[in-house]
Amino acid sequence: MSKNVVIGIAWTYANSDIHLGHVCAYIPGDVLARFHRANGDNVLMISGTDCHGTPITERAIKEKTTPEKIVERYHQQFEQVFEKLGMSYDEYTLTASPYHHQKVQEMFLKLQQNGYLYPKTEEASFCPTCNKFIYDREVEVVCPKCGAVSKGDQCGSCDYVFKTEDLLKGKCRICGGQTEIRQNTNLYFKLSTLEQQLKQHFEACKNNWRKNSVNETEKFLREGLHDRAVTRDLSWGVKIPFSGYDDKRIYVWVDAVWGYVSAVQKYCDEHNLNFEDFWFNNNNNQHKIYMCHGKDNIVFHTIIFPALLMATDSRFLMPDTCVAVEFMNINGEKMSKSKGNAWPMLDMLKVFPADTLRYFCIASGPERKDSNFTFDEFHKLINSDLVNKFGNFVNRTVNYKGWDNIIPNATLNPQIKELVEKTYKTVANDIQNTNFRDALSNVMAMVEAGNKYFDEQQPWILFKQEDKTKFNDVIYTCCYIIANLGNLMDPFVPFAAQKIRDAFNIKQVEWKPVSIIAGNSVQRMPVLFERMTDKDVIA
Ligand SMILES: [Zn+2]
Ligand SMILES: [Zn+2]
Repeated sequence: MSKNVVIGIAWTYANSDIHLGHVCAYIPGDVLARFHRANGDNVLMISGTDCHGTPITERAIKEKTTPEKIVERYHQQFEQVFEKLGMSYDEYTLTASPYHHQKVQEMFLKLQQNGYLYPKTEEASFCPTCNKFIYDREVEVVCPKCGAVSKGDQCGSCDYVFKTEDLLKGKCRICGGQTEIRQNTNLYFKLSTLEQQLKQHFEACKNNWRKNSVNETEKFLREGLHDRAVTRDLSWGVKIPFSGYDDKRIYVWVDAVWGYVSAVQKYCDEHNLNFEDFWFNNNNNQHKIYMCHGKDNIVFHTIIFPALLMATDSRFLMPDTCVAVEFMNINGEKMSKSKGNAWPMLDMLKVFPADTLRYFCIASGPERKDSNFTFDEFHKLINSDLVNKFGNFVNRTVNYKGWDNIIPNATLNPQIKELVEKTYKTVANDIQNTNFRDALSNVMAMVEAGNKYFDEQQPWILFKQEDKTKFNDVIYTCCYIIANLGNLMDPFVPFAAQKIRDAFNIKQVEWKPVSIIAGNSVQRMPVLFERMTDKDVIA
């Protein structure tokens, strides 16, 4: 029976370029989506650009432009990157869209009606010149302990946490003026009252999560849940849908995670589908909700987002499987803008085919521990696996001069038949258990079995000996493996898989063995993967 599957992939913040570290968190979502679609499930793979919050407004001031312009610039870049990478989003949207604003406001009203919001008055930094409350990053404070000039609520050089009287002496980073402390009222979300429900959710789902998600969520729950501010003094963001809070906006953490819901709603609205079929509990566990993100974002997906779902409507299904990847380092160092090693993905895609980067992210990426990218290792991996094994097997079979590219009437090797059937099942389990690296290595094992079979059978000798029957069996069996690689490789290296399906005239990816039919022609194929040279690295 086909399932309804929602795959939510982390939203990229519209303030910096997408780099390899991001992509390592996103590719697993695309692997899941492509697998589930091939399996006949109804998949909605969704995400978008995260547009609100102070870093973007600060940057707009600095660049003398508007937050809208900054968001537009990055949103366009992100869309280009995802298209080139072969990310098969059903809906890629942005939190600055009027549709998203409306859906977040509807949710916020429900939180209010359900009694989860309350006002709380606290002391806060106020800039009389700018005539507004200013936050962490906007306040410049001279550390009373070490004298360093810092922004925010903690000293950047000695980690001293500033007290109210320290902040009182702070300056506004926007205008340079002296700040003062005033009473400020914000709305708070009663996260603490959901503690029991969230613990139950944790117990119900933790077997589907990786160790990093389990550990961090457990720690967060153990420390006790605290209510959280859901409004901020800002002019950029989603407006509060009731009176008394005109100068405020909904805090970005609320609006960003709700993007998962609003994007599914948007897709359903535009495609005549029922949102409830995807996200409400109404039909015998034939649902699946995955969340794919980095390890710096775990609690938002395991606690905060579920809490908002619970507080808004009890019918919401919880995201049951969280896929949090670790960090990807570059040449042994943490990726960072200041080190200049967070190369924009758009630039990398100009030099390296998307399939090679996708392959590296899965085969050598930070699935369960931090991993490292060096050009040398990337090089070696691609040349050894994609060029020498996969590409070579396809090329030596399909482009072999000894046959006329018409599939012969021949017998399929029974061991190969069994291996192919088994590989579909093994890889399906691996993918659903979010063991993507194992999944890919099991597909590669089929490629290696193909190469071994080809070497052992020596079709070039059979050809010379004019042993037509045996020769045809070998060609037929190798073609059978390749046609099935057109399905099995689709989640990982979709562009190469598409080329195979085109050559074999296979219309649709399906997660079951595809037969090849004697008499059908197979098109000769260009080389699937170019060998990488030092020249690529220098570029
Ligand atoms: Zn200090
Ligand atoms: Zn100011």
